[in-house]
Amino acid sequence: MLTSVPVGTKSLKNYEHIVDQEIIEKVRRLGKDMRGAKILNINSTPFGGGVAELLYTLIPLMRDVGLDADWQVIPGSEDFFTVTKLFHNALQGMDLIATPEMIETYLRQNETNAGLFTGDYDIIMVHDPQPAAMLAFLEEKGKRKGRWIWRCHIDLTTARPSVWEFLRPYLELYDAAVFTMSQYVKDGFNMDTIAIVPPTIDPLSAKNINIDQPTIDSVLERYNIDSNRPIATQVSRFDPWKDPLGVIDAYRIAKKEVPDLQLLMVASMASDDPEGWHYYEKTSRHADGDPDIHLLSNLEGVGNIEVNAFQRASDVIVQKSTREGFGLVVSEALWKGKPVIGGDVGGIPLQVINGRDGYLVSNVEECGQKLTQILKDPQMAKEMGRFGREHVRKNFLSPRQLADYMGLFNSLYAAVSR
Ligand code: UDP
Repeated sequence: MLTSVPVGTKSLKNYEHIVDQEIIEKVRRLGKDMRGAKILNINSTPFGGGVAELLYTLIPLMRDVGLDADWQVIPGSEDFFTVTKLFHNALQGMDLIATPEMIETYLRQNETNAGLFTGDYDIIMVHDPQPAAMLAFLEEKGKRKGRWIWRCHIDLTTARPSVWEFLRPYLELYDAAVFTMSQYVKDGFNMDTIAIVPPTIDPLSAKNINIDQPTIDSVLERYNIDSNRPIATQVSRFDPWKDPLGVIDAYRIAKKEVPDLQLLMVASMASDDPEGWHYYEKTSRHADGDPDIHLLSNLEGVGNIEVNAFQRASDVIVQKSTREGFGLVVSEALWKGKPVIGGDVGGIPLQVINGRDGYLVSNVEECGQKLTQILKDPQMAKEMGRFGREHVRKNFLSPRQLADYMGLFNSLYAAVSR
């Protein structure tokens, strides 16, 4: 069996006073239509990164509105996750020729994992490439049942053909695919149903719920961060696409103008991301012992409350990605009323409206300059924060995504139960 992830409970009722009523009504209506439908989500890690973050909220909410929803993770050897990370990078545009050994590693693990698949489901939603080829092996064995959706969280606009063309036939076996933005759908991708669903954050999760000042202060104190001095923060896996080295360079530019500035770089090390360790060390070397740069991770006990506190304690949030499927951290920061300086890539411009709730930047100099500008103008920062929070409330809170997913499930479910 694949491993089920325990998720706790949540109630849609608690979101009624936060999001617009029409979204709540849509979810309830679809919940009634699909009562008891068996939904399975499959991905590759129960923690670290955006997919896990999303599922911890969406699975309990699906259950609350009547679906029989579950979440399972696949196992994988270190070699397998090294290959899938390379594939992930190549799908985001990094040079890579998929070798026969890589392909073999990927397919054999998917075959093994298909053998671990049990149970009967109406809808199976498979996230990202790691488990994507399982369906082919189930089909080969005559065990394909239910409707299969491939959920792509990656920006495929510059995907390397060697990896995309290898994966494509496996993906085209699916009944539907979901992308974050329409630009991510590759030309010629042969798929009956394509849905565009940007991700969302959970305003009631430990990561995003309102916390009081004493709690924030105690977290800062625990990590030796001075609450009386300005703070800029990037919360991201240590990954080349998140450009942690560029963030340090931008901080150095701003620090010339704002000498008190502290930089927090907060990362969780995900189990499916061996590259993270390598990049952590690289970032640490680049920080070069600067006592005002704090590299923090789950290894130092940074969990959801701590991330929440760091984001709230910040004067400005940076997300200087050079590729970004969506960037949940951007909405997390905006929801907390913080201006965000984000890379002008992928899903970030959906969230950062340039000049309104932050700035979109394309290089280190611009990032450093915008950092200085926001840090020197707290009134503007506040107004940006206010705009950003409402933008997120309307567009990027969990019930909206739930409504979108359930709409898609319902169209496929009707086809299954016919
Ligand atoms: N995250 C976290 N702790 C960390 C770093 C990241 O909890 O130290 C969370 C972050 O708050 C966000 C998710 O991991 O919810 C990252 O999602 P995002 O879409 O920004 O990036 P991804 O990692 O999926 O590329």
